[in-house]
Amino acid sequence: MDVTLSDEDLAFREEIHAVFRDEFPDDIRRKRDKGVPMERGDLVRFQQWLHERGWAGANWPVEYGGTGWTPVQKYIFATEMAEANAPPIVPFGLSMVGPVIYTFGSEEQKKRFLPDILASKVWWCQGYSEPGAGSDLASLKTRAELAGDHYVLNGTKTWTTLGQHADWIFLLARTSTDVARRQEGISFLLVDMTTPGVTVNPIITIEGDREVNEVVFEDVKVPLENLVGEEGKGWTYGKVLLQHERANIAAVAISRFRLRRLRDQTTKPVRGAAPLSEDRNFMRKLAAVEVDLRALEYTELRTLAAVQSGKAPGPESSILKVKGTEVQQAIDTLYLEAAGYYALPYVQEQYTLDADPAEWVGEGAETQTSLKYFNFRKASIYGGSNEIQKNIIAKHVLGL
Ligand SMILES: Cc1cc2nc3c(=O)[nH]c(=O)nc-3n(C[C@H](O)[C@H](O)[C@H](O)COP(=O)(O)OP(=O)(O)OC[C@H]3O[C@@H](n4cnc5c(N)ncnc54)[C@H](O)[C@@H]3O)c2cc1C
Repeated sequence: MDVTLSDEDLAFREEIHAVFRDEFPDDIRRKRDKGVPMERGDLVRFQQWLHERGWAGANWPVEYGGTGWTPVQKYIFATEMAEANAPPIVPFGLSMVGPVIYTFGSEEQKKRFLPDILASKVWWCQGYSEPGAGSDLASLKTRAELAGDHYVLNGTKTWTTLGQHADWIFLLARTSTDVARRQEGISFLLVDMTTPGVTVNPIITIEGDREVNEVVFEDVKVPLENLVGEEGKGWTYGKVLLQHERANIAAVAISRFRLRRLRDQTTKPVRGAAPLSEDRNFMRKLAAVEVDLRALEYTELRTLAAVQSGKAPGPESSILKVKGTEVQQAIDTLYLEAAGYYALPYVQEQYTLDADPAEWVGEGAETQTSLKYFNFRKASIYGGSNEIQKNIIAKHVLGL
């Protein structure tokens, strides 16, 4: 495996780096650096900023407005984005439904949906999970029954991330029960959230935030033209999307940035206390996570080298997902330990943009450190839980 960057790749990295350094919206940068949560408008504006530079479709083919970058260039881009502490890309449009539509959708669907997804003009959400169907997704109960030129949709989706902002939802629904395998007879539908019969109910998570929702469908009319690909083949399309999702969840470059930021903080005394670098136990734990992260980086680079030489990413994305989320959560724990008592939400007001970073240990505002710790318990559950990924690795990677 050769991990040396060519002269062209080095020039590419310099170009991306310079744009993030010189043109990245200053107000968003300040919020990110101080740990102030991103609002819908910030996320949309950031993605539109990427779009203006032609970078929104980092993984998309050129014919649909994508960059056409090589796997190494995509890797460099993700690294530079993390190093700039840029907000995460909301994955549902650009990383999930977009690739499904350009791969399996009709020409009309491509024309109708892809430009708006690329320009982040429309907010999408993902309707896979149901109250009784998560890991065992094929047991989903939402039904779409054909009635002339439309389907009638009934059922409930749950854990729908940021569904409160969504204009559209892509979902899996059962269109037939007369099947040999449960994975058959499931279809991939695109549904306008303003259609009568769609209700979005909030679910408040442990850190007190509304990030997920329940979405209920009662006799919702979905035009036949919103079926993606063939009826009953949604499982195949949905699986492609999950592989994209898993590789993104690993977030290796972001972990590298966060860990380096934490190591930098260990050298400074805060509130008159000795610097963390004098706490040998803490530094030993920090070093152990750094070693794990380094090993993960090499796994990612090995996958990258395989993709660069023309192989499709396969079940190895499950390894990246498991290890990537374990490292993320280990970093969350280190930040929490570093901030200690000050991470507790009731100890102090959340920091504002005027607060002085020299006064805290953590990811910007210390209070955010604990909220993030609680919020990111999700990482080992969503995108297919880590236990399920281990089953996939056992079967498809180790051949057990
Ligand atoms: C914050 C958050 C955001 C999410 N966002 C979305 C979203 O936007 N859209 C969407 O569709 N879904 C979303 N999900 C749902 C997510 O994909 C599911 O939670 C996940 O697939 C697990 O399903 P479940 O919650 O029903 O748990 P279950 O499937 O009931 O699992 C419960 C436990 O049993 C374990 N388990 C289950 N089966 C096995 C097995 N065969 N072998 C070993 N262990 C097993 C699991 O690992 C887990 O620990 C989100 C979830 C969270 C937490």
